Amino acid sequence: MLTKDNALVWMATFSQEVIANKEFLSELDSPIGDGDHGFNMARGLTETQLALEATPPATLTDVFKTVAMQLLSKVGGASGPLYSSAFLAMIKAIDNKDTLTNEEVADMLQAGLESVMMRGKAVVGEKTMIDLWTPAVLALREGSLTNDLIDTLVEATAPLKATKGRASYLGDRSIGHVDPGSYSSGIFFKALLSSGVLE
Ligand code: ADP
Ligand code: MG
Repeated sequence: MLTKDNALVWMATFSQEVIANKEFLSELDSPIGDGDHGFNMARGLTETQLALEATPPATLTDVFKTVAMQLLSKVGGASGPLYSSAFLAMIKAIDNKDTLTNEEVADMLQAGLESVMMRGKAVVGEKTMIDLWTPAVLALREGSLTNDLIDTLVEATAPLKATKGRASYLGDRSIGHVDPGSYSSGIFFKALLSSGVLE
């Protein structure tokens, strides 16, 4: 069950793990982008944690409102607005409820995914975070999402050719590199698994 309290744990873990991996995430973005993905996300999530501490959210919805606003305003690059649109759609799906069942959590993340797809105009197979979110949400719904599966899904972005975002400028030369946005999204789903939300 998703609550305000475990949503805060989820977001804190997501933030800590992105910050701990910021150099690695930016290294992934170097051969197929501009080498800023980890720094972008770490900046936004550092600001998110500061904002959550400065103004403790009163409701579950308020947790994600703070995340969405900070990611939108503090993350440069494509990923900030895309992650932010996911959180805004998740807020709508929460519909002011205080708690969500596991099935409702899957629905919420599905709404987030659909919003990223609309905003970024990407579909599965274009080597973007969509390639992590789509199978991860499906597995979550089926109760089969694990850390190992997430690692496999991240690795599965390497052989894809990028046709959206900065990496698409490289054409065939984007093949053979893991997509950084899928890696950070993997951290997001692993943080969900460890946060107690699904118990
Ligand atoms: P930028 O590409 O502007 O430097 P980042 O480096 O922060 O932004 O983020 C790059 C990541 O954003 C990519 O690895 C990819 O997963 C994701 N991304 C880029 N364009 C799209 C898109 N159109 N749809 C979904 N995700 C995208
Ligand atoms: Mg980049």
